[in-house]
Amino acid sequence: MMSSPLISTLLLMQATTSNNPGIGSGDVFQCPQVETLSLSDLDQETAREVHEAVCDIMTSPGFKARLTEKSWKTGCRRLPLLQQWSITGDELYRILDRDMAAFSLKSEPSRRSSTVATTSVYDLRITIRPERFEGWRTGDMARKANMVNTLAHEMTHLIPVEDTNNLFRFTDSYNWLPWCSKGSLVSYGVGNLVEEIWLEQQDPYRN
Ligand SMILES: [Zn+2]
Repeated sequence: MMSSPLISTLLLMQATTSNNPGIGSGDVFQCPQVETLSLSDLDQETAREVHEAVCDIMTSPGFKARLTEKSWKTGCRRLPLLQQWSITGDELYRILDRDMAAFSLKSEPSRRSSTVATTSVYDLRITIRPERFEGWRTGDMARKANMVNTLAHEMTHLIPVEDTNNLFRFTDSYNWLPWCSKGSLVSYGVGNLVEEIWLEQQDPYRN
């Protein structure tokens, strides 16, 4: 049954708690707000919790320190000789802070079984498959961590190439090619880093 899309505003935390200054500006890191599109009450609650968890981490001094200690790749090319796209951690942090816009979040099954989530930079819309929402609610640490990783990863795809509104600034096509070092791509790197910090928060005593 089709119904007109319900748009409800969820939460909207604006990174109020953090006292880590943005680089150079003295501003607080701005985590983008989220609206939920056609989500059930249960999924809205999950979306609120996951968004809050991701934003708590992205606005933390620990995230900033670990993101800025290395450089990252903004994309990957099919041919190894063309790999030139990199960015310093400082520059990446500045871009995440400045250019991640408020977005909407949907839950929808993927057409391809391998696709966990998709992001439209033009619509500023992230769609995550229902299994990820359900995974968060099971309470299983690995599945919760997957959901945190997925949202953080997709949020990096919300950023457009400068002076456009429909081209991804950070891409991850060809990420399976050996010279693409998947973990150094911004999307996978940020997703993994947020997941790592989240897991540490759950168990601060683990090795
Ligand atoms: Zn991606």
